[in-house]
Amino acid sequence: MPSVPDPKKDTLAVYVLSRPSFGEEIDRFLRDQDIAWRRDQQARPAEELIEFSGRLCYLSFGARQSPRTNEAYIRNLIEKGHDSVLEHAVWTFLLSGISRGFTHQLVRHRVGVSFSQLSQQYHDESDAKFVMPAELGTIPTGAATWSRVLSVALQGYREIVAALRQTKAPSGLSAVEWQRAIHSAARSLLPNATATAIVVTANARALRHFLSVRGDILGDDEMRRVAAALFREVVRDAPAVFSDFVEETLPDRSPVLRRGKEASK
Ligand SMILES: Cc1cc2nc3c(=O)[nH]c(=O)nc-3n(C[C@H](O)[C@H](O)[C@H](O)COP(=O)(O)OP(=O)(O)OC[C@H]3O[C@@H](n4cnc5c(N)ncnc54)[C@H](O)[C@@H]3O)c2cc1C
Repeated sequence: MPSVPDPKKDTLAVYVLSRPSFGEEIDRFLRDQDIAWRRDQQARPAEELIEFSGRLCYLSFGARQSPRTNEAYIRNLIEKGHDSVLEHAVWTFLLSGISRGFTHQLVRHRVGVSFSQLSQQYHDESDAKFVMPAELGTIPTGAATWSRVLSVALQGYREIVAALRQTKAPSGLSAVEWQRAIHSAARSLLPNATATAIVVTANARALRHFLSVRGDILGDDEMRRVAAALFREVVRDAPAVFSDFVEETLPDRSPVLRRGKEASK
């Protein structure tokens, strides 16, 4: 049997490609319409965008503006279930060092989220990296089994790619489509641990839903780590929208997100 490659590991990284902004066009609108909006100096762009969008629904500016802070205004929107206003605040993240098993769960979220993921059909995965489950990091025998089986899978991938490249493309198939077919055949050996990268665009409403259903799944370390990493970014940009979530640390030092009364303090 040929010597098998050592599986290379990848680790989670989150890059924020874009954040909500709130530009000077709003001043033009207020001037054009002769509207006076008392703005909360503490509010951040994402929060102002949400507040303005909510106020526009009722034209609650000028004399009709209540003395609420931006935070109180947004909390009231959420409490009343007027969550659609949160959809105007949008972030784009690049996640890397995450497993295909994780992204399979992530892309089940359909509403208010968009995805662009590294293709295993166009991209040759001969040098794929893998994401080791945290549970194996503390068990040398488990980690050894994991590495051994991945090595064989990766070697199998390379052998299948090499073997199929020796054969002639079926008639009618372009070179590009034949490459796709080869990668598709070979990737059938790749496991859930295969590392991938994905661009995720999500609005604040969808993010709140994701954090609430995914942030505290105790048996899913990778999901909790990603949820916590996203939370840290969005709560910094829009505390009024996300500060009912609290990040806590489990005994194994991994993060968990709790909400409101569920939080331990
Ligand atoms: C703990 C846990 C265990 C899970 N286990 C499994 C499993 O064993 N097998 C499995 O297949 N999946 C499983 N899932 C995935 C789950 O079923 C959802 O597909 C995934 O969490 C996306 O959630 P969502 O549909 O609420 O989110 P989104 O698709 O983002 O939707 C957001 C919200 O929009 C509304 N909405 C979206 N689509 C519709 C619709 N068609 N009709 C009406 N309202 C809609 C709902 O209110 C929904 O909550 C699990 C998820 C969790 C959190």
